[in-house]
Order: sequence, then structure tokens, then C-alpha cells
Amino acid sequence: MTGKPLVVLKDVNKYYGKLHVLKDINLTINEGEVVVIIGPSGSGKSTLCRTINRLETIDSGTITIDGKPLPSEGRELARLRAEVGMVFQSFNLFAHKTVLENVTLGPIKVRRIPKAQAEQRARELLQRVGVADQADKLPAQLSGGQQQRVAIARTLAMNPKVILFDEPTSALDPEMINEVLDVMRSLARDGMTMVVVTHEMGFARSAANRVVFMADGRIVEESTPEEFFANPKTDRAKDFLSKIL
Ligand code: ADP
Ligand code: MG
Repeated sequence: MTGKPLVVLKDVNKYYGKLHVLKDINLTINEGEVVVIIGPSGSGKSTLCRTINRLETIDSGTITIDGKPLPSEGRELARLRAEVGMVFQSFNLFAHKTVLENVTLGPIKVRRIPKAQAEQRARELLQRVGVADQADKLPAQLSGGQQQRVAIARTLAMNPKVILFDEPTSALDPEMINEVLDVMRSLARDGMTMVVVTHEMGFARSAANRVVFMADGRIVEESTPEEFFANPKTDRAKDFLSKIL
């Protein structure tokens, strides 16, 4: 079951110089929904994610979270980044901080949670993603799959309303992909609102409520995974699927 509209993009356009990277994007993400975004490299998937937590600005259109426009600066922006979590391909953990510190830093600094309380919650979250025993290590001492699970725990520690995953398993050795996808599947089952850019079609089939296919800066198709994989409507999507399946 999915709920009310949480993230709403209306007629969004973005340029990098002359390059028109997002073209008239209209997209609504409802509470509790898992939306998988797929499409060829360069089609604007990362840029789309980055505009939703304002790592990138847009040139026209509107983006709202819970009905409110994205703030542009200051503490409001920090709060937005907490509400709209992001998990990157490259983990982006702080290399010189322990796993536990990576997870407590945001809650302590941004949410002003007392340290002991932040640590207790962090340990629970590390347990949840299956790396509780790694709490005192540095990121480099962990496998890629473990580091990505720490990155997910770090995002969860901020109590996000939605999490954007930008190719979270693309940098991982094959044997580690499933341990990360399993954590994501469990978040989905628990009702987390998620936007997931991925080439893992098994995940799209099993976890997505909706598949959004992008090409050339546009949303070309939007349908249920069943419909998309069985009956892609456009040649672009058929061509894409024939190359990756
Ligand atoms: P995808 O994630 O689907 O591979 P991206 O959103 O990364 O696509 O990129 C969309 C287009 O924008 C590509 O042509 C890419 O080269 C270009 N692009 C991405 N980031 C920048 C940037 N910071 N400056 C200029 N061009 C960029
Ligand atoms: Mg990308």
C-alpha cells in the first residue's frame, strides 16, 4: 500500500551549460513507494536524484517534498538533506572516522541528538544492516558490501522521509551485491519510500512498485515492473532491455 504524494516534480528542466539534461520531468513519488529508475548511461538518472535533495539546482519547474518547495540554503537545506537521504555508488563514508562515528555524526551535528543516544541508535541500525560487529573499524577495513550497508545505516540514522539510491551496487564485486539488495528489500518491506537507480533488474522486478524508464533526459515510460518487462511500449525501452537482459 502506498500513501500520499511525498516528492512531486512538475515540468522540471535542467541544463549543464547548453546541455539539456532534464526535459519536462513530471514525477510523483508516493509515501511508501519504491520507484526504480532505469535507462542508458547519460540519460539524466543521477542528475534527477541530485535535484531532489538539491545537490543540483533546476532551471525551471518545481520540486516539492511533503508539499513544501525545496529550500535553497542554511539550516533548512541541512534539514532537507536529512529528510531526503542519498546513498551513492561510491559509499562516500568518512575515511578517518570509525563506522560508528560515520553513523552518529549527522544525528549529533544536524539533529542535535545527545552522543550516547546517537550511539545507541547507531548500534541498532548497524545491527539492522548486519554489520554491528564492525562498529569500531575504519571504512577501509570493511568490504565494499559492508561499507555500503554502513552508508545505508548512516542515511537511516537521520530518519529520512525518502531515500535516493544512485546505483548503490554498481561498484561492488558480484558476490556482495545481494547483501546490499537484501537490506534494501527489507527497507522496502518496512514501508520506506525509495527511489532507486539501478541496473539490477531482479531487484526492479521483485521490489519496485513502479519502473521509470529514462532516455535522453526524458521520462519515456512509466509503468509497473510486470508491464514494463513483459510489454515495453517504446523502441527505446525495448532496445535497452534487449541489451541488458
Ligand atoms: P546518468 O546518471 O543517467 O548516467 P547523468 O545524470 O550522470 O546521467 O548525466 C546526464 C548528462 O549530463 C550526461 O550527458 C552527463 O555527461 C552530463 N553531466 C552530468 N553531470 C554534469 C556536470 N556536473 N557538468 C556537466 N555535465 C554533466
Ligand atoms: Mg548516474
